[in-house]
Amino acid sequence: MLAVALECATARWPVHPLAPGRKSPARNCPACQDGTHTPASCPCLRTGGWCHGFHAATTDTARITARWATRPASGVGVSCGPAQLVVIDIDARTKTLPERDRLWPGIPIHDHVDLTGLANGFHTLAVLAALRGATDPAEDETTMRVRTPSGGLHVWYQAPASPDFQCSTGSGTTRALCWQVDVRAHGGYVVAPGTITNEGTYSRLGTAAPAPLPPWLARELIRTGHTASHTVRIDHAQHRPPAAGGPKPRPREGAARTEGNRDAVAKAMETVLTDVTGCAVAAENMGFSEKLNRAAYTIGGMVAAGHLDQHTAEQTLQAAADYARPRQHKRAQQIIRSGLAAGAQRPMYPGVRS
Ligand SMILES: [Zn+2]
Ligand SMILES: [Zn+2]
Repeated sequence: MLAVALECATARWPVHPLAPGRKSPARNCPACQDGTHTPASCPCLRTGGWCHGFHAATTDTARITARWATRPASGVGVSCGPAQLVVIDIDARTKTLPERDRLWPGIPIHDHVDLTGLANGFHTLAVLAALRGATDPAEDETTMRVRTPSGGLHVWYQAPASPDFQCSTGSGTTRALCWQVDVRAHGGYVVAPGTITNEGTYSRLGTAAPAPLPPWLARELIRTGHTASHTVRIDHAQHRPPAAGGPKPRPREGAARTEGNRDAVAKAMETVLTDVTGCAVAAENMGFSEKLNRAAYTIGGMVAAGHLDQHTAEQTLQAAADYARPRQHKRAQQIIRSGLAAGAQRPMYPGVRS
């Protein structure tokens, strides 16, 4: 396990010990078990202790060597955020399906779609990739993949310079990529390959190192709210009141907010965000400002109509802009604010004929 930990440190992935035989972090010291302080104010962390799980992660080889010398059976956790990793954690265990709108958050699945046979994270992720015309991460041989003892798979990618992607669990109600697929990024850790637990070994498939996060997957993470302090998804925001001060929404018109309407909102949102993130691969300033402005205008209209809140709109647009143009944060912020304000003058009710 020491060799595993040191190998990670060499790759500049900060590590922390796991409980021997387990995939959970090593226990806190007695003083840190009562939960009365935050990691930021922890005296143990300041003096090189190993409390608070991934918050203690380090690449300091002396500290790592000392720890594993005394507890050689501790498995190795890698703190994903500081390691600049985004790991897609695919769960192989068969579970009962949740509500349809939680399978691929933000992508409505009509009642006539037969979901027989859909049972785990490999299935949901493969469908999402197919929908985007992309390689299924589970089959992506260009990047590092790790088989878990329960038959799941961790697909390791290098995080982009921005935005800072956040963790989620596929069964979560605040943000999720798709059902039974977790995202490990800022605020989380992943078990390093070579770690042995009571359930078995985490073993690397092939020799590939983590490849850059594919742009389509970055877009999906932005769309599904995996950016800082952004936890409200469009499908949960359907019945929110409009932002204070904005124009009054049109009164509900019977069947106006139906499934077709929800589709239209999600689709409109996706189209404009894809336009913005697509600029990441375009030459410098090839219509970036115009696209960002158009996206902000469209989404401003959705905010005014009560489809999502102002804060979520700003966060989502800023994340998409930062992804495409990491060095133009301030300028993008100005375009977003003015675009949202202009769009708010024209509430948008996708799917409703006016
Ligand atoms: Zn402690
Ligand atoms: Zn502490």
